[in-house]
Amino acid sequence: FNTELQRSEKMEIISELAASVAHEVRNPLQVTRGFLQLLQKKSASKEREYLELALEELDRASGIITDFLTFAKPEIEQVQLLDLAEEFRHIEGILNPLANFNGSKITSDIPPGLYVQGNSSKFKQAFINIVKNSIEALREEGQIHIWAYARDGEIAIHILDNGEGMEPAEMARLGEPYFSNKTKGTGLGLMVTFRIIEAMQGRIEFMSEKGLGTEAVVRFPEPSSETGPT
Ligand code: ADP
Ligand code: MG
Repeated sequence: FNTELQRSEKMEIISELAASVAHEVRNPLQVTRGFLQLLQKKSASKEREYLELALEELDRASGIITDFLTFAKPEIEQVQLLDLAEEFRHIEGILNPLANFNGSKITSDIPPGLYVQGNSSKFKQAFINIVKNSIEALREEGQIHIWAYARDGEIAIHILDNGEGMEPAEMARLGEPYFSNKTKGTGLGLMVTFRIIEAMQGRIEFMSEKGLGTEAVVRFPEPSSETGPT
């Protein structure tokens, strides 16, 4: 008999485990945050400072879970045809409150009938990380536009924002682990996004101008008609 697990089986077990840990850890973090905030209101200034640091570290922990494991599902990874319009309805549903909170707006134009091959949870994680970066880059009158189309055997998805933009030196470092310009950033979001897109045989490209905004373009192979929905 064979007591050794195959590598892919091990990977599956590890990612299932990571996903369930993420779900279990998120709630106690939120509860702890609530109590610390209550304490903070009643504290003298020195203690306030410590509590502020504690809150920041808690937010960092939550940020890591959000960037890595927001949609990780504790189940064996399923690859299927994903309906882009439906996936982005979910993604916008989750991110709209965050955008609206800052007085910004997300609009989209994703026609029905566009499909890509992949895992729904991972796909959402990849694009949440991109759109969240756009939201975080916005200033006054922030706008994000998302659109998609099929061309030359590929499905293209554009995410355009009128945020602060990036210098070329910044762009060269995108996807590098721990590269972040934010006080509360993890620098892990795009690394995760790049890996997911790569695993889906896709590619990503950024165009940006400091002070004007950023556009991300993601391209996936168009599924062949045999694998298409019937
Ligand atoms: P984090 O968001 O935690 O900083 P990411 O990997 O998601 O980590 O992003 C890395 C860095 O790339 C960000 O800190 C930011 O400087 C830059 N960046 C990514 N997307 C955009 C964008 N749409 N506009 C401006 N800067 C961006
Ligand atoms: Mg990010």
